[in-house]
Amino acid sequence: MEALMIYDNYTTNEKIIHGWGFSCLLDGHILFDTGENGSKLLKNLNSLDVTLNDITDIVISHDHWDHQGGLWALLDKRTGINVYSCPGFSQEFKDKVKNLNGNLIELTGLTEISTGIYSTGEIIGTYKEGPISEQVIICNTKEGMSVVTGCAHPGIISIVDKAVELFPDQDLNTLMGGFHLYKSSEKEAEAVYSKLKEYGFKNYGGTHCTGDFAKQFNTFEIAAGTRIVL
Ligand SMILES: [Zn+2]
Ligand SMILES: [Zn+2]
Repeated sequence: MEALMIYDNYTTNEKIIHGWGFSCLLDGHILFDTGENGSKLLKNLNSLDVTLNDITDIVISHDHWDHQGGLWALLDKRTGINVYSCPGFSQEFKDKVKNLNGNLIELTGLTEISTGIYSTGEIIGTYKEGPISEQVIICNTKEGMSVVTGCAHPGIISIVDKAVELFPDQDLNTLMGGFHLYKSSEKEAEAVYSKLKEYGFKNYGGTHCTGDFAKQFNTFEIAAGTRIVL
């Protein structure tokens, strides 16, 4: 299964625009997050030869601008598409999806969106002293379980614990996405990464809000335009 990075803080070449945010196309048809800006998102999809009709479902990790900002331009052009959210997303978000004729589906628990591709359902974390609702993608392939995170506000370690609890018998393949460590000191980030390495994933790819120091801990290059085999 392929994970194609559509939108990220970093890019692989000048044809693929970078911007603050995250978006990743899974198995050629499930779009996980949409970055901060619709026109950049649409340009990158086009540059990466993804047509809007290829996309069957959109999963939004959490209701922050850098993950749902590109959604509106997509829904303008692609009505009736499934948009997976969580009950804790804002009413404003839910109304906007419905007004643009998106098919809003709110997930609470583990849900298989397509063969081998799951949402964990709603995980509650803390953001700016309030609760935040976030869902995470799990891809199970013959290589094992991969975990793809948007911002990991509930904490990347709690998220991995949750994924392992959901699929205790799976080998651990790839952990990738935003780990939200960019405000942490290098020492704190190192402590988190060494904990993450103890789980024994084969590959690590922190990006987006992980911080520049992710590069020294990652086991592969990850940026907008990167193709990763899960
Ligand atoms: Zn966020
Ligand atoms: Zn983010």
